[in-house]
Amino acid sequence: MRANCWYGKKDVRIENVPDPEILNPRDAIVKVTSTAICGSDLHLYDGFVPAMEKGDILGHEFMGEVVDVGDAVSNLKVGDRIVVPFPIACGSCFFCQQELYSVCENSNPNAWMAEKMWGHSPAGIFGYSHLTGGYAGGQAEYVRVPFADVGHLKVPDGLSDEQVLFLSDILPTGYMAAENCDIKPGSTVAIWGCGPVGQFAIQSAYLLGAERVIAIDRFPERLRMAWEKSKAIALNYEEVDVSDALKDLTGGRGPDACIDAVGMEAHGMGIMGAYDRVKQAMAAQTDRPVALREALMSCRNGGVVSIAGVYGGFLDKVPFGAVMNRSLTIRTGQTHVHRYMQPLLERIRNGEFDPSFVITHRMALDDAPLAYEMFCNKQDDCIKVVLKP
Ligand SMILES: [Zn+2]
Ligand SMILES: [Zn+2]
Repeated sequence: MRANCWYGKKDVRIENVPDPEILNPRDAIVKVTSTAICGSDLHLYDGFVPAMEKGDILGHEFMGEVVDVGDAVSNLKVGDRIVVPFPIACGSCFFCQQELYSVCENSNPNAWMAEKMWGHSPAGIFGYSHLTGGYAGGQAEYVRVPFADVGHLKVPDGLSDEQVLFLSDILPTGYMAAENCDIKPGSTVAIWGCGPVGQFAIQSAYLLGAERVIAIDRFPERLRMAWEKSKAIALNYEEVDVSDALKDLTGGRGPDACIDAVGMEAHGMGIMGAYDRVKQAMAAQTDRPVALREALMSCRNGGVVSIAGVYGGFLDKVPFGAVMNRSLTIRTGQTHVHRYMQPLLERIRNGEFDPSFVITHRMALDDAPLAYEMFCNKQDDCIKVVLKP
């Protein structure tokens, strides 16, 4: 089959690789009909995630048709159309029982690697380095889905791939980021990053009762989308001082909740931005926490800072004194996607969400190298790419 494989920094290639096969009784093989490139794939593309190996198949946002099932999978059959969540979860361990699927303790065969980096291991993830299991990803014609009996959502007739594909990651991720904010009627929520996750976090915050959502970015096309599609107040941080603007909009107090939908490769300005770029390039810090710093400093006393952006390791100059002295709550985590798929599918069916609005580019899987380059450089106002095998 053809698959999009990682070869190094800014180097992905379409290669012919062996077809996946059933290895365990709870596996299924899915013929991919749609797959997407995620902002977090860019952390791999830009070489900031360790434990990648040449030839690794990328992709954790995918859906398709079941073409083979293991003997222990009784709730799927050949021909079923499914969306697959990006974290791999067993469905029955201590964490899965509490619906904390992204920290399943049975799905990362390389747990020892993750334990060295993070103390304990999270769940395995498709196409996301050997630190999270080394599983082959879904930017391919076929993919093996472990624990397929719990890790799938059957797609009802009448819904297109583009309406449901993002249930695999970014729609639940944006929704969980907003849910973590404890939104009350009248709340003001500020969101750093208007990529697809930020766009869904804006819509989710309004759906959960926020009175005002303030969207922060520097790309005009993303700010325009945030305003036109979701009526967010748009702030371009290259044009205004964000911390002053947020004070002005909230009577000096600060937003009730702040969402960081940016993560480890934030674009920084001024002295701190230069400091982060140098330290990350020297491998003296793993992440550039520009958006996180700003969110922590801007949030009102007693508010919530919800982190949806991906961080990898050790962060420098994070104003933890602000967290302690001003009673801030930090909530974060890889998304517990399994928990959100069915309820969000219902919201799509009844018209509360139409996630397809974030798609700006539709390309063939064979064009993945070009698609990564365009998405990485935001060429042609690229916000979200869907690939068709
Ligand atoms: Zn993703
Ligand atoms: Zn589990």
